[in-house]
Amino acid sequence: MKALVKQEAKTGLWLKDVPEPEIGINDVLIKVKRTAICGTDMHIWNWDAWAQKNIPVPMVVGHEFVGEIVEVGSNVNDFHPGQIVSGEGHVVCGRCRNCMAGRRHLCAHTSGIGVNRPGSFAEYVSLPMANIWVHRDDIDLDVAALFDPFGNAVHTALSFPVLGEDVLIAGAGPIGIMAAAVCRHAGARHVVITDINPERLRLAVKMGATRGVDVRTEKLADVQKELGMTEGFDVGLEMSGNPSAFRDLLENLCHGAKVAMLGIPSGEVAIDWNTVIFKMLTIKGIYGREMYDTWYKMSTMIDSGLDLRPIITHRLPYAEFADGFDAMNSGKAAKVILDWSK
Ligand code: NAD
Ligand code: ZN
Repeated sequence: MKALVKQEAKTGLWLKDVPEPEIGINDVLIKVKRTAICGTDMHIWNWDAWAQKNIPVPMVVGHEFVGEIVEVGSNVNDFHPGQIVSGEGHVVCGRCRNCMAGRRHLCAHTSGIGVNRPGSFAEYVSLPMANIWVHRDDIDLDVAALFDPFGNAVHTALSFPVLGEDVLIAGAGPIGIMAAAVCRHAGARHVVITDINPERLRLAVKMGATRGVDVRTEKLADVQKELGMTEGFDVGLEMSGNPSAFRDLLENLCHGAKVAMLGIPSGEVAIDWNTVIFKMLTIKGIYGREMYDTWYKMSTMIDSGLDLRPIITHRLPYAEFADGFDAMNSGKAAKVILDWSK
């Protein structure tokens, strides 16, 4: 089968013929229909320090996908060929205390598809049945391909109640933008999002943010006044990984505010802990998606009218993958879909 492979320890990916994955008795074989390019894939493409440390070569990469089940292992009774599915990219151990208690997102022994085990930028991918999420048959396939990062957005955005609250999101990357859409859908009042990229801020507003703030030219304190806010934001979502964005976020929260942290900083970040203490903030780290509460909410929010389609800026046949990676590197793209049927 065709697959995008990290074949050499340098920039790029290579379209290769590799053997089809074999399935064990508890596994499901999926014919991939669409994939999306994630920030993690960009690290792997660009072969930065993180990728050099974490990605074995060769490796079939990719983890954002939707496909159709074509074969199931002999132990698999709940899934059948023809179903349209995505996969939870974190394969958990199933045996640790958290897994045994049903808190699988807290497993300390996860292995990631397209990072530690063969991924979905391929014609076929194999996954344990415990990682399968079934979509309704008529779901928009491009949207279904986004469930992995959409899940990051939902997990973070719904970590604390947002109904009637004012939410501040740092970082209008694809995940920040989807989080803005989720907060609006879930009944937040003001959803203010920051970035340094005007195009991304425009897209965020198109998808439901009340106000995009370019932090190079505007101050959040002024935006609060403009919106008639007097006490600060109730909920903060850190989705930039940028230290100054995080500090700015903390400064603009109300007393007792809640903060969910998804963005991954490249190193240690210093903050003024007095702010955390005297404002009595709650800060929660977020990794991946809750299995499978987040997935359930994703499906029901799509069913109840949440529209993710505007986040897709590029659709390409898989053989034109290099154009997709270039678009992502240019900062002009939000989500790039690769079509594996073409
Ligand atoms: P992204 O890199 O596309 O988005 C980050 C955005 O932050 C960019 O648009 C960038 O312009 C913006 N930014 C940079 N400096 C800023 C500043 N000073 N103020 C405001 N915004 C600023 O990433 P993404 O794919 O949307 O992911 C968001 C973050 O979440 C990344 O840090 C990513 O590594 C992380 N992530 C974490 C998990 C997890 O499980 N914890 C999963 C996926 C992604
Ligand atoms: Zn575990």
